[in-house]
Amino acid sequence: MNCSNCRFFPFRKNFVNYFNQKSIHEECGVLGIYCPENGHSISRKIYYGLIALQHRGQESAGISMHSNQHISGYKALGLVYNVFSDRIINGLLGRVGIGHVRYSTTSVSSIENAQPFNCQLPKGEFSIAFNGTLTNFIDLQKRYSDQYSFKTSTDTEVIVYILSKYIQETGYDYFEAIKLVMNELQGAYSITLVNNKGELFGFRDPLGFKPLCIGTIEDIDTKVIASESVALDIINAKLERDIKPGEIVMINDNGLESKIALKNSRKATCMFEYVYFARPDSIFNGKTIYDVREKLGIELAKTSLVDADYVVPIPDSGRTAAAGFSKESGIPLCEGLMKNRYVHRTFIMPGQQQREISVRMKLNAVKSKIKGKDIILFDDSIVRSTTARNIISLLKKSGAGKIHFRVSCPPIVDSCYMGIDFPSSQQLIAATHTIEEIRKKIGADSLVYQSLDGLIRSIGLKENQLCLACLTGKYPLDLIDKETLEKELNIERNIN
Ligand code: 5GP
Ligand code: MG
Repeated sequence: MNCSNCRFFPFRKNFVNYFNQKSIHEECGVLGIYCPENGHSISRKIYYGLIALQHRGQESAGISMHSNQHISGYKALGLVYNVFSDRIINGLLGRVGIGHVRYSTTSVSSIENAQPFNCQLPKGEFSIAFNGTLTNFIDLQKRYSDQYSFKTSTDTEVIVYILSKYIQETGYDYFEAIKLVMNELQGAYSITLVNNKGELFGFRDPLGFKPLCIGTIEDIDTKVIASESVALDIINAKLERDIKPGEIVMINDNGLESKIALKNSRKATCMFEYVYFARPDSIFNGKTIYDVREKLGIELAKTSLVDADYVVPIPDSGRTAAAGFSKESGIPLCEGLMKNRYVHRTFIMPGQQQREISVRMKLNAVKSKIKGKDIILFDDSIVRSTTARNIISLLKKSGAGKIHFRVSCPPIVDSCYMGIDFPSSQQLIAATHTIEEIRKKIGADSLVYQSLDGLIRSIGLKENQLCLACLTGKYPLDLIDKETLEKELNIERNIN
């Protein structure tokens, strides 16, 4: 297989190996659009969709378009609106294409990691955008090591290799090839793919960890596949449904074809999409994320009410749950912390000291509101506890009275190998400390986390439809060799 990592690609004859990344965790946003006719500026629609998915990844952005039996595209490091100029978008011709935004981690930030990934085969080309993490990529690498010499230890290289193998073996029947590939992959994946025949695919792992939905721009009969429904809203596409776990959707000139390639009655929707990751205005599994977050706050108000002057959210991630708490308790909501909106997550800040400075760069207290007041402080999650500790110290320095910390997620005690970029379990504060120890460490007057039941009730899905592994240590997949994965993932991340 031939792969390209050039910013601009039509594919070149020379083989360019893009697989030199070490970090394999991918929390990203993917998109795909199929329009039956020319003249509707599809690359521009993909661009707008990626802007709506920007929260899912700020490190790099890319678009691949099918045009004249070829795939061409552009990708670079940076936020979507920095990566693409008008000139570049206008140069990306075609009526079928995919897009990708990649999450920022503290691993080396390089163009080689940027997606979509492109692969040239003897009789075809394809490009994929991938969100997720494979848990069996090491096994797969071993299985195929006599046929192909893998350049890196990354799951993306494994997916692209196996895809290219089956595409060729099936005589370029992509639908069939994807089915065969899905039989071998384990873990979380939501993928869009475009090929040189102008076919668009969307497919999702059988447990459905990561979101992927489909909608239509009705007046131009155009199908849109996206990580989140907010990417449909921005281009006036109507949400039809989620792509089902284990489903492959293919859209070409004959219309839409769909097949459940893999069935599993167990599902494993990532609870963290509801708690933190997805945008509050997105709909996932028929539930608006905002409503779930508001319920998380209401649950906490029912179980952990204290006397206080204000409920103060940590922006932006604590805001919706804080509103729910305030609504239920009658304690007024006060935006006592202000965010510097120009400091982005793209700041790569390894190391604890840098992380602390990064919190201070992002947030400041409204002193006149805070001074002498008892506060219920709200955030979505505590991971290492850096954010909580720094913000409580900031509020105390600003003259706050008592600070009662409320967390809309239960304690995170185990790492994630399915796409959320949590650090290794030794660095998770709740894995090594009691709640009372954490309270002392962050300097709060009281600390209450969401209960597991409260979380499940708020999401409104059955427990066996959710992945709660980071909260319970019970992984929905067998065969997780945690030690090896932890080593290979080399987890280290950039939080805010
Ligand atoms: P901590 O400071 O405790 O290590 O992390 C908790 C903070 O990180 C919370 O404010 C939460 O909103 C944020 N957070 C949690 N998960 C993620 C993530 O995956 N990415 C980013 N950028 N921030 C996160
Ligand atoms: Mg936050």
